[in-house]
Amino acid sequence: MIVVMKPNATEKQIELVCTQIREMGFQPHPIQGVERTVIGAIGDERGREQLQGLALVEGVEAVIPITKPYKLASRELRKERSVIKVGNLEIGAPQQFVVMAGPCSVESEEQILEAARCVKAAGANILRGGAFKPRTSPYSFQGLEKKGLEMLDTARRKTGLPIVTEVLGAEDLDLIAEHADILQIGARNMQNFQLLKAVGRTRKPVLLKRGMMSTLIELLMSAEYILSQGNPNVILCERGIRTFETQTRNTLDLSAVPVLKQLTHLPVIVDPAHGTGVRSLVPTMSKAAVAAGCDGLMVEVHPHPEHALSDGAQSLNPDEFTKMMQALQPYLALERRSLHSAAAVGA
Ligand code: PEP
Ligand code: MN
Repeated sequence: MIVVMKPNATEKQIELVCTQIREMGFQPHPIQGVERTVIGAIGDERGREQLQGLALVEGVEAVIPITKPYKLASRELRKERSVIKVGNLEIGAPQQFVVMAGPCSVESEEQILEAARCVKAAGANILRGGAFKPRTSPYSFQGLEKKGLEMLDTARRKTGLPIVTEVLGAEDLDLIAEHADILQIGARNMQNFQLLKAVGRTRKPVLLKRGMMSTLIELLMSAEYILSQGNPNVILCERGIRTFETQTRNTLDLSAVPVLKQLTHLPVIVDPAHGTGVRSLVPTMSKAAVAAGCDGLMVEVHPHPEHALSDGAQSLNPDEFTKMMQALQPYLALERRSLHSAAAVGA
């Protein structure tokens, strides 16, 4: 249910409504809008009728049901776009655009530093790199784990770029949260509900990638797991889904962007590297993603893709990435967006 407060409702009245929501066994999620506060009352659907009684409480204008199953993620609850802060960056702000770039995996200190310097020089504002890797084969490179996280720390210290890196399992979460600015939940883990709840208990920004066989509603329900634990900092990522097509690794579902923009207030970014699996397609699909209205991109860039330990075929080299970033400029201008300049973490 949404409890809509009157525009002139006092802090005290809002607090009182929150207490009453708690007493009825629901969680209050107040959202301060420009004009008024609305309070999401979230919990077991079965007892929701009793919330209707709040309509008579002082300061309350109306009590309205949320029809969608993804309550906190829905635009019914929150009309304004969510803006997720990462250091000085604002992800989801309508006129801004973020680019997360870097290798699929952290492979060595030299590799991640070279990648970090080149993506920063080309205009990227967040460094990506996996230290814990979800691989189809147990015999493939699994990532440098803790050592990889320390190399990411060094790269952040030397370039000022914030770090996004994947959390494979809840057992590694505390360690990764010490090093990462954004926690990535990979496609294969989109419905690992224990992991979603665990990152939901932190307040770190979470990049939630769409499962390769998941619908957009399922993606939003997974976001809801994180939000319902009290972490509002969720960024959604379209990274391609499995279809019968074999010329691309996945089918990048760009219609996901406008659909999600209609359904949710959360920011949406696009990953054309995993979405296509083919380096030569990444710049074109990045332009198309900008035109579709996304808030940012995640791109794989490797100093020497031919030697990459994972996903070399879809990774751009520094030169290609620099050219792509330049080619994106007119498309960003058409969308009235501009790239955040690379910002120092926590500065
Ligand atoms: C990745 O970002 O390197 C990755 C493994 O992505 P996904 O979970 O989308 O496959
Ligand atoms: Mn990858």
